[in-house]
Amino acid sequence: VEPPPQQPQPQLQIPPPTNNKIERRLSRLHVVQQSSSTNIPNTIIPTITSEPPTSIGLHGPFGQMILDYRSTLTYSPILNSNPNQQQSNQKDLRICVAVRKRPLNKREIAKKDNDVITIPNKDHCLVHVPKSKVDLTKYLDNQTFKFDYTFDEKSSNELIYRYTAAPLIDTIFNGGNATVFAYGQTGSGKTFTMGGDLQMAKTDYSHGIYAQTARDIFQRLSLPQHRSSIEIFVTFYEIYCGKVFDLLNNKKRLRVLEDQKGLVQVCDRKEQQVKSVQDVLNIIQNGMNIRTSGTTAANANSSRSHAILQIILKTSSPVSANTNAPASSSSSSRNNNHNNPAVLRRLMKEVGKMSLIDLAGSERGKDTASGDRLQRMEGSEINKSLLALKECIRALGRGDGCHVPFRGSTLTKVLRDSFIGDKSKVCMIAMVSPTHSDVENTMNTLRYADRVKELRAGDNRDV
Ligand code: ADP
Ligand code: MG
Repeated sequence: VEPPPQQPQPQLQIPPPTNNKIERRLSRLHVVQQSSSTNIPNTIIPTITSEPPTSIGLHGPFGQMILDYRSTLTYSPILNSNPNQQQSNQKDLRICVAVRKRPLNKREIAKKDNDVITIPNKDHCLVHVPKSKVDLTKYLDNQTFKFDYTFDEKSSNELIYRYTAAPLIDTIFNGGNATVFAYGQTGSGKTFTMGGDLQMAKTDYSHGIYAQTARDIFQRLSLPQHRSSIEIFVTFYEIYCGKVFDLLNNKKRLRVLEDQKGLVQVCDRKEQQVKSVQDVLNIIQNGMNIRTSGTTAANANSSRSHAILQIILKTSSPVSANTNAPASSSSSSRNNNHNNPAVLRRLMKEVGKMSLIDLAGSERGKDTASGDRLQRMEGSEINKSLLALKECIRALGRGDGCHVPFRGSTLTKVLRDSFIGDKSKVCMIAMVSPTHSDVENTMNTLRYADRVKELRAGDNRDV
């Protein structure tokens, strides 16, 4: 390790001391080794030692190199056991980008696939890319990325929620749109994070971001200032190959239209009123079953579609349909029957919206070069939508309301509201698999997430 370069230390907030003995062991300063192509300058990271690295998930010469490298680091990851940490670190971010590393699974352990990802602290992610020189000498190309938050493989869904979606509950109760994206290759943990653990004998939706968000919204509604003035509606649909299918209505195909004012409408989308967290859980369960069952043309594997769950806050006092109410209220003006509950519901004014999106797998690049025609089409459609998404989030970051390139894909069209308005906030959780086999996809995911964040307002890093 080179001696530390002479440069000012970054302002890092260290979590307050706790009673936990391990966490109290205050650290030394440590310099993170970097290769020349990393995305941040050499950084001195003050850390708190958590626990020494183990050889679990490390095999062969590369495994030894990673173990040696890790033993030079000290650790202070965000811990499940430290619920107060977020309050002290809370940033008011318009765009928040977080990374979550999932644990190795049984198959990867059996295959002796190396764990090449290290999350040393609350906002860095290191990738140890195994390489060989021309003379076949093996070496590690260690890449460092910095994000708003990084979560290691021990992090629970509750912890991820607390740092990502939970801060956005305020946004929707203050009249804004909040949007959370789960991005990453297939198998990296997007559905686990959003929906919960679906692998166990009895599937458990209650710990996913969907359920936790619903819980917090209903809790907030029980406060005296909101009681009886706000009602909650849910929509759940998926986008496959640019087409929209309703997960609340047996995958009915929905049309997306744009009116003269540029308002995008998803026609006849079912909007279900919910009165409790359990209602939302039932919708999630039915919708996710429908999503994977495939009863229509979109019988594709769910990894090739984007799933969009929206929880919409509406005021119960009816207002005229042509105020700045949402797209969904449009068709009601013709049928101005104020005694009809269905019409009344559509006349309600939308006052806030949380959109939770489980994106299609991001690994599709190679499908465009190989595979059958359908796969190539799916792949290019997914690439197009993920590229458009990145550009729209970057436009939001620039505060560039007039130039949001939302027409680039169906996904960005239906989410247009997410990228405009002073009160809109977006959070992207980039999921990564820990293994050497997936390192190329992981690097692509981290580069994508880095680009999303790059142009944030107030962020003065070079483009
Ligand atoms: P994706 O939706 O990105 O394709 P999944 O969420 O389906 O990926 O995850 C793939 C597998 O890995 C599932 O079996 C899931 O239960 C498991 N998994 C993902 N993330 C975690 C995690 N953080 N902890 C434990 N298991 C996980
Ligand atoms: Mg999934």
